[in-house]
Amino acid sequence: MAELDYEGFWKETLIQLRNDLGEAEFSGWFSETKYIRAQSSKTGDIIVINVVIGIPSAFHRDKVKSRYQNILITKLKELSGKEVAIEYEITGKTAKKEAASPENHQIEQKVDTLTDKEADSGAVLKPAKKRGKHPLLQENFTFEGFVIGDNNAFAANAAVAISKNPGKTYNPFLIYGGVGLGKTHLMQAIGNSIHENSDNKVIYTTSENFLNEYVQAVMDNKMSAFKNKFRDTDVLLIDDIQFFQSKERVQEELFHTFNHLLSSKKHLIFTCDRPPSEMKKLDERLRSRFEQCLQVDLQPPRYEERCAILRATAESRKAEIPGEVIDLIAKNISSNVRDLIGALNTLIAYTEIMKKPLTIEIAQQKLKNIFYAPKQANLTNDVIIRVVADYFGGLTPNDLKGKKRTGNIVFARQLAMYIAREMTDYSTTEIGQDFGGKDHTTVMHSIEKIRGKLLTDPTLESTIDSIKMQIKDFSAKH
Ligand code: ADP
Ligand code: MG
Repeated sequence: MAELDYEGFWKETLIQLRNDLGEAEFSGWFSETKYIRAQSSKTGDIIVINVVIGIPSAFHRDKVKSRYQNILITKLKELSGKEVAIEYEITGKTAKKEAASPENHQIEQKVDTLTDKEADSGAVLKPAKKRGKHPLLQENFTFEGFVIGDNNAFAANAAVAISKNPGKTYNPFLIYGGVGLGKTHLMQAIGNSIHENSDNKVIYTTSENFLNEYVQAVMDNKMSAFKNKFRDTDVLLIDDIQFFQSKERVQEELFHTFNHLLSSKKHLIFTCDRPPSEMKKLDERLRSRFEQCLQVDLQPPRYEERCAILRATAESRKAEIPGEVIDLIAKNISSNVRDLIGALNTLIAYTEIMKKPLTIEIAQQKLKNIFYAPKQANLTNDVIIRVVADYFGGLTPNDLKGKKRTGNIVFARQLAMYIAREMTDYSTTEIGQDFGGKDHTTVMHSIEKIRGKLLTDPTLESTIDSIKMQIKDFSAKH
């Protein structure tokens, strides 16, 4: 663990956040935070910087975590160029008596009221003159970084046209296709381009987030603020709408938001893992709204397109990758772009750590697990959780689904998530849900942790192999 100085990055993050949130909301949560230290943990593949922040109370910590953590991490990552995790240390005087202290609720009240007021006057997130990066969009999800081939040309061209003429061309718009084919990238590229080149306000959210905020608003009696937030925008991007299925009340709210925005000529853009006609558990009215959209699909890339994506990614990471390695990856991974880039990143990380040039032999050896691990049909995350808990002796499935961070629970949980991603077709969002309702970013973080450990711990691979064998056994017998 090496000490690093991240204070400058932290300060800059706060400055940007103050701009994004407005003074009232910002100071309610961040005026008493302070930078403590940053340490890098050398877990191999991905080096993660743990930034430790002092925060006045556990109440503040929980709220900051649930509301702002993603934005904080995105900003810190962008400023430092490193993978970042945030840890909190409770510093304030309220630390001891924070449990159920009434004053905490007052703090929340104050902040929320101010935010509501701002929302009512339409003053939230008004674009500044020279706009910085959009706080909710990934900066590298741009049109420049999106390789166009026959598999995605129609979708990509439509997306570019929208970005030049928001509110007018192809509204509403829906991109659908399988996991890891570039739906989020393309949607965010539209958002980034509009944000950069106009004064239009862009809101990006996932269906998960929309749902969580809706539930919170219902609980806090803040529906008008919620409605205002999603109606006071020029462009609304909602990612992965398939998760709205079976959530009836939020569907109703979305239906009204949809109508409101469309009638005021605001742009609506959605992504989905299937065509809307196949969302069986969606209210008829809402489904017909989605069916109204211009629907474009993303197909898996063919060999030439896979090579082009790999070359473009290697170039953007300034990594020298021999042609035969590009060819090896492109021939072996055909189903999705995320896995394609994931494999390339594994190799780039390996060569950076080992400081050795990449050869075809090293590539073959490092990627053999990825290439020869076909997904198991019908395998559920519950089975994986059971077997992993069992494997670690003394753990229960609930330990892995819960939040405890003691002993080897964290490691077992991370490992189970990693195995779930490897052995099933579930998305990180679905895995998070099956692990006791965790966020997909938690799942992604866990997977990266294990990938990192795999590069440095020679015994881990065989541990994983034997757990996988047990899982296969178990599912064969049940
Ligand atoms: P989805 O939302 O469809 O699951 P993402 O948009 O998250 O997929 O894409 C997965 C990864 O693949 C991202 O890192 C993205 O940048 C990359 N990607 C997908 N399609 C392309 C493309 N055509 N060119 C470059 N990168 C791509
Ligand atoms: Mg996506």
